[in-house]
Order: sequence, then C-alpha cells, then structure tokens
Amino acid sequence: MNRYVRQEIFIGKKEQKKLGKSKVVVIGLGALGGLTSELLVRAGIGEIILVDNDKIEIENLQRQHLYNEKDVGEYKVKVAKKKLTEINSKVKINVVFNMLNKDNLSILDSDLVLDCTDNFEARFLINEYCVLHKIPWIYASAIRDKGNILVVKDICFNCVFGYRKTFEKCASVGILNTITSLVSSVQVNEAIKLLTGKKYEKDLLRFDLGSNSFERVKVSKKKNCEVCG
Ligand SMILES: [Zn+2]
Repeated sequence: MNRYVRQEIFIGKKEQKKLGKSKVVVIGLGALGGLTSELLVRAGIGEIILVDNDKIEIENLQRQHLYNEKDVGEYKVKVAKKKLTEINSKVKINVVFNMLNKDNLSILDSDLVLDCTDNFEARFLINEYCVLHKIPWIYASAIRDKGNILVVKDICFNCVFGYRKTFEKCASVGILNTITSLVSSVQVNEAIKLLTGKKYEKDLLRFDLGSNSFERVKVSKKKNCEVCG
C-alpha cells in the first residue's frame, strides 16, 4: 500500500517522486524544527539532515512536538532521529550534533535549507552560504503569538533584514505553541512547492494570531546588497 496516496492525488505522482529524491537540511530542532521535520518525513522527503546540539528540557514540552517527558535530558537530534525513523523508516535521516557555525557551513549543501533557529546570527550565516552556493532556503520565525516566513531564493535575507541589529528572544517575551505549529506548516508547505517545482511564495508572510491577521509584505532586492549584490 502506498502511504502517500492521499497526498499524491493532490500534488501528483511525478511530484511525489521529486520529494522522494530531495535532500533537506533542518537547522534547529526546537518547536519549529521538530514539527517541520515531522511533516517532511511524513510527506516522504528522501533525505533529511537534522542540525542541533541542545538537550531536551521540561520547558520545551509546551511546544516541541517530537519530545515527551521521558526524553528530558536527552539530546534533541538523538530523540528526533529515533522518533522520525519510527514514523517513516524509508526516509534517510542524518544528524549533526553541533550548532551551525562558520566552520561547518558545508552541511548546508542540499536542495533546500529550512531555518528553524531562533537567532539572526545563524540566519545571516545560512544566507551568506546559500546565496554563494545558490541553495534556496526558507526563513521561519515565531515569537509571542506572531510569526514570519520568507522564501529566500530570488532575493536574499540581507536585502530584507540587513538593517536588523537587535531582536527579541522567546525566553524573555514568551511564545505560544499555536504560532509555532502554524509557522511550521506554512514553512513545509512552501518547501513542498519549491521541491516539486511549483509556484512558491515571493512575499514576506506575517501572521498574528492575536488579531488573526495575515499580511503579505512585498520585498525587493537591496541595491548594492553586501551579500547578493
Ligand atoms: Zn541581498
């Protein structure tokens, strides 16, 4: 029995095969990375590389889907690999026990990189490498009850967010599990479009679950951008 039958009816057989041949890197295995990687593995991605060096803490369980109480104290990549393999043993799952840093950027070599980090430093690192090597990536962020998504392919992250010097942290202002789930779903939805050659989102997407508003922001290439210019 074909486990992807319901999805295949909708996206197409050829497109399902394309997914099965795709290699995706997920940076960060917190709230976004956990659900994003689960959705990809269930959807039948060919290969996934999970990058993280954190251990699971009790306060993660409020929003980090892959983990439960008995996993507290374990490394996220280790638990994630085990659970994702139980979900779909056909997917090749590789793990990197490290944070992304300027010495290991070659782990980003793939068809697509998914940003599930919680900091701008990592995003600028991803951006520089991916622009140089022409690898598309998807920026995703969530804080409080708000989220952002940007497919970085025709523009670059620095073009849009190069002015950012400071940013808020979930640890100080809080986060709801509803917004992380929404952002992960939209991120994987765009990933499937990109990987199967369908039309993907060009605008910056902004979600606000407080006011239930959804906003599209036009973005454009920055003149003389330090990264892509
Ligand atoms: Zn740029």
